Amino acid sequence: MATKHILIVPGDGIGQEVTAVGKKVLDKIAVKFGHTFTYDEALIGHVAIEATGNPLPDESLEKMRKSDAVLFGAVGHPKYDNDPSAKVRPEQGLLKMRKELGLYANLRPIKLFDELLEASSIKPEILKGADILFFRELTGDIYFGEKGRKNNGDTAYDIAEYSRYEVERIARKAFDAARTRRKKLCSVDKANVIETSRLWREVVQKIALEYPDVEVEHQFVDATAMLLIKDPRRFDVVVTANLFGDILTDEASQIAGSMGMLASASIGDGTGVYEPIHGSAHDITGMGVANPLASILSAALLLDISFNMKAESEMVISAVDKVLKAGFRTRDIANAQTPADKILGTAAMGEEVLKFI
Ligand code: NAD
Repeated sequence: MATKHILIVPGDGIGQEVTAVGKKVLDKIAVKFGHTFTYDEALIGHVAIEATGNPLPDESLEKMRKSDAVLFGAVGHPKYDNDPSAKVRPEQGLLKMRKELGLYANLRPIKLFDELLEASSIKPEILKGADILFFRELTGDIYFGEKGRKNNGDTAYDIAEYSRYEVERIARKAFDAARTRRKKLCSVDKANVIETSRLWREVVQKIALEYPDVEVEHQFVDATAMLLIKDPRRFDVVVTANLFGDILTDEASQIAGSMGMLASASIGDGTGVYEPIHGSAHDITGMGVANPLASILSAALLLDISFNMKAESEMVISAVDKVLKAGFRTRDIANAQTPADKILGTAAMGEEVLKFI
């Protein structure tokens, strides 16, 4: 029996709707296992800009630092998507949260529930059994380097930078994870042309010497993009830089059929942040149809990684599996054969999961 303090940070759009369901699942787990979970809420993104003018107010950051884990939703609003010149933007809150909390590793498990084989755009026979764990570096690369304009604004630049220690620490996390799985690690770079990639490969090769039991493969990012679709089962743990990881993990999300199914964990040396990989989805905000399973699976990752509550985490994943086996679907993972009475909205889908906990 443990006492933990969880910060709920719903953010924008469907972040509000799905995070409410994720929290209910955590509540039920606490009751079931006799834990005490206390909660607080904090603002980020567009809602924070509206309330305070700041996409990540100091108060939110302080609450994050003081909590044992953060369950996060999403940030974003159409107002900014269509106005690239806006100086204050919701995503600044997200990047600042990652930087300030030192969340240098983003973990994305990509595993398809068997019941959803048909929901993917990839053929079931290629897909069945695919189980990949991505480690995307999160606080370096082109996103955080110097950026600007010159030549009267006609030329733009973004500098990509990596330091040895940044590669070392994420490589170690990925190797450690590979040891607990199928002992295969694929490090993805573009070492044939990019200098930061050459450093990346050099460091991973060095760390590999400490893990002789893990089979290491180095791949160029273009090849990985192709192989993920051609033969996803060949991958176990994949580790890569921020920009490549951003793109490859969205590509890999299609293996799981829908963005609404995938969870992620952002971890470092302090508080971990757990969130669905999807954004604020303005097209369905307020309609009550968003798939809450990614937030629920994020709660499962939170229990596992930040609280080391393996049985609790597995119970959540198994409840999701049972709900899918029972035929329940949200709109995004339903198909033409799904009976109308099995297509549920956000809250009703959450209730079904709660029944299996
Ligand atoms: P998105 O992930 O919000 O939506 C992409 C598509 O997937 C949409 O059609 C949406 O309806 C669908 N979808 C996403 N999540 C779903 C769910 N849980 N259930 C059912 N359908 C779901 O990406 P986008 O449309 O490119 O971006 C919308 C906003 O979100 C933008 O402002 C963007 O900047 C932001 N964004 C934020 C994050 C984040 O906070 N981590 C990530 C990606 C995008």
